[in-house]
Amino acid sequence: AVTVTDLVVHRGARRVLHEVGCTVPPGQVTGLLGPSGSGKSTLMRAIVGVQQVRSGQVTVLGRPAGSAELRSRVGYVTQAPSVYADLTVRQNVRYFAALHGRGAAAADAAIADVGLTDAAGQLVEQLSGGQRGRVSLACALVGEPELLVLDEPTVGLDPVLRVELWSRFHALADAGTTLVVSSHVMDEAARCDRLLLLREGRLLSDSTPAELRSRGGTDDLEEAFLHLV
Ligand code: ATP
Ligand code: MG
Repeated sequence: AVTVTDLVVHRGARRVLHEVGCTVPPGQVTGLLGPSGSGKSTLMRAIVGVQQVRSGQVTVLGRPAGSAELRSRVGYVTQAPSVYADLTVRQNVRYFAALHGRGAAAADAAIADVGLTDAAGQLVEQLSGGQRGRVSLACALVGEPELLVLDEPTVGLDPVLRVELWSRFHALADAGTTLVVSSHVMDEAARCDRLLLLREGRLLSDSTPAELRSRGGTDDLEEAFLHLV
């Protein structure tokens, strides 16, 4: 669903992605892992077409990343997502539903998916950080995008909700949605169908968790991941 070839990105004066090449298969959950500053968010921005790139190609659903026709087919939740703080959860999700030509029932279903039904009538500004993140996720889910790019969607969630959301990601993948999910939480790596490991802007590995386990560490970061997946 996504092909990245020789991608080079500079931010400010620094090269933050070094000739990254990877593929994201359709209908699977691909995890993007790596230490803070390794380039996860930058790679996600390139995939959704909001990152200026120095060289290389990013192809999404057969089109160049950022193409206008991809707008309704790609959902993106940023690391610091923004929703309307002075509206309720339900008003926010209904607004995004309407943008995608969907009604109130679709909005309520998305709210239920992220476990916010009980908070649906609350103003976003009254919610916790973890709940706010879930409002953004509901707003992304409601459009039923073919590709869903989620930058650290489980930050601020308690362990129970974390597991529920991962189940939801796999249910979406089983229904044909392609997901790219970044995470700092290493036990989430084991829940991915594929893992992309980044370090200092370089792709260290593109494999399944099982392949990574059986291959053994070729590098200290992979070595570190081996103990976790
Ligand atoms: P985290 O896990 O902390 O979210 P990340 O893996 O998502 O980190 P990126 O946000 O992609 O990392 O950052 C990659 C590199 O780009 C870092 O060195 C960072 O300092 C740099 N960078 C990020 N945003 C900017 C910016 N707006 N201007 C300049 N440099 C930036
Ligand atoms: Mg990031």
